Amino acid sequence: MTEQLYLADSSVRSFEATVERTLNDRVVLDRSHFYPTGGGQPHDTGTLAFDGGEAAVTDVAKTDTVYHTVDGPTPEAGTTVRGELDWERRSAHMRYHTAQHLLSAVLLDEFDAETVGNQLYADRARLDASYPKFSETDLADVEARLNELVDDDLPVRHYTMERERAEAELDTQRTRIDLLPDSIAELRIVEVGDPDDPFDRTACAGTHVAATGELDGVEVTGRTTQGSETERVTFTLG
Ligand SMILES: [Zn+2]
Repeated sequence: MTEQLYLADSSVRSFEATVERTLNDRVVLDRSHFYPTGGGQPHDTGTLAFDGGEAAVTDVAKTDTVYHTVDGPTPEAGTTVRGELDWERRSAHMRYHTAQHLLSAVLLDEFDAETVGNQLYADRARLDASYPKFSETDLADVEARLNELVDDDLPVRHYTMERERAEAELDTQRTRIDLLPDSIAELRIVEVGDPDDPFDRTACAGTHVAATGELDGVEVTGRTTQGSETERVTFTLG
């Protein structure tokens, strides 16, 4: 399995790696900072540069390992490549993903509405929550609360924790541990807020900004129903 470097540090924009193998237009590296599509967050794009060529990375998917689909010359196994992320796209994804953590927490805190799905893009995002119907006032309140959290510029950090310990010590519904497959024994916990009294704590393998101030303002743009018990809330960032 490719070492997924963004899990340890999601602020890195370029890196060196070695090609392990290629399958037609797909390249497997020993290590990579490219985020593969997952958890509602789209894959990164960018380039792989190497002696004798440069290829665009157009898709990144994780199955048994991480596959980088390239457009251009394909480097051979053993080649050293320099990966460069499209940082505008990735940083937008990190901002929207972090905002989604805040929105999930606010909906759970204030409406007992659990997040059941989410999808983000570089310029907008949506979140589905178990709730009959949010009113205009509800949405205005949610937006105001989110902007308080942005103004507070809360730190965002992550660490790993044994699943058994996490299940004993953390709120499993809130951290969403109960949704993870049994095979996952070590969790990556993402915390927002004061280390002694975090505002939110979730098990998550996505990429996040370092502090909520980077979200630069949240606008809740609307809601639609996804059935009698599910609401879809859409938002954009400043
Ligand atoms: Zn996350």
